[in-house]
Amino acid sequence: MGGSRDIPLANRVGEVTPSLTLEISAKAKAMKADGLDVCSFSAGEPDFDTPQHVVDAAKQALDEGKTRYGAAAGEARLRSAIAHKLSSENNLPYSANEVIVTNGGKYSLFNLMQAFINPGDEVIIPSPYWLSYPEMVKLAGGVPVIVPTTAQQQYKITASQLEQSITPQSKLFILNSPTNPTGAVYSRDELTALADVIVKHNLWVVSDEIYEKILYDNAEHISIGSLNSEIFARTLVSSGFAKTYAMTGWRVGYLAGNEEIIKAMTTIQSHSTSNVCTFAQYGAIAALENPASETAIETMRSAFAQRRQIMLDALAKVPQLTCPTPYGAFYLFVDISQTGKTSFNFANELLEEMQVATVPGIAFGNDSCIRLSYATDLTTINHGLERLTKFVQS
Ligand code: GLU
Repeated sequence: MGGSRDIPLANRVGEVTPSLTLEISAKAKAMKADGLDVCSFSAGEPDFDTPQHVVDAAKQALDEGKTRYGAAAGEARLRSAIAHKLSSENNLPYSANEVIVTNGGKYSLFNLMQAFINPGDEVIIPSPYWLSYPEMVKLAGGVPVIVPTTAQQQYKITASQLEQSITPQSKLFILNSPTNPTGAVYSRDELTALADVIVKHNLWVVSDEIYEKILYDNAEHISIGSLNSEIFARTLVSSGFAKTYAMTGWRVGYLAGNEEIIKAMTTIQSHSTSNVCTFAQYGAIAALENPASETAIETMRSAFAQRRQIMLDALAKVPQLTCPTPYGAFYLFVDISQTGKTSFNFANELLEEMQVATVPGIAFGNDSCIRLSYATDLTTINHGLERLTKFVQS
């Protein structure tokens, strides 16, 4: 049952848990506001400001009176700019009417589940996963089918694991590369093998590519839908502006795919969020069209690369903690099982005793690990790692 006797909540509320990433980062921010010296490795939120040309474009849109309702599927110019980006950069030949602009990447996925998943449909999700995927599936009445992966396989699902998890109820597979929370990046060969299974079993795939530009050590991002026309027809691409352009609060994301699905999602959007904030969409257009974005992205990426190396070097000195090298995104998924603590107790004690905020791996489907986000400044990283080391070795 969703509600207590006094407050008769809908049953579906009882099916899901609040987002722990948002909860912990809010707690860390509140502790900081109370004057506590907190080092937060919690939310995946770039600590950079949104690039000035993006801010200026939104301001100009405000000055020009772009403050009214817009089309539910998004501003035509932004839909075209997204389609152009996907065609030219990702080799995904979408047209503008195969794109919907959504309230962040998160709502693109939530809306997709509403438009595409029937009660009882199975959605295959490799674990560790971004914590909102299973909850969105459940809220649509679907059944999340979790496929565990290990550090030895760099937390990447194999084609044979995918194939073995397919049943007559399977409808959708959620792929996320680069991956939150592990930083894994799938290679062309791995994606080709997964695509063969998807096509063979008439499955659909939603490819969450929100971290596509945050890559290290010459890792390459490949969109699974670009591999051939058969997989392209069964692929939906989800992404957004939050991570690449430091635009987390703007809430601009999108989904591209089959036009019928986009139309269905637009219908749902027209009864739920309506259009994404109009002037924010003009910021997003500038993010895609203004060449100044390239420098801004590279400045952030190289800062993340430096921080990642500092984190990896520091963790290498703590034998009780291990993690695979991440090749994308801005997370380390650190195995804490040698400490004998559950991930929740580890993260909780670390926060209480050392004022270091992390996210317990159990939230991502793996109780042996914690997630550290290094989308934060170097002072926090250096102090936080010192405290983490002390905590583990005390
Ligand atoms: N996606 C980010 C994270 O995993 C932001 C918080 C959220 O929406 O989950 O930390």
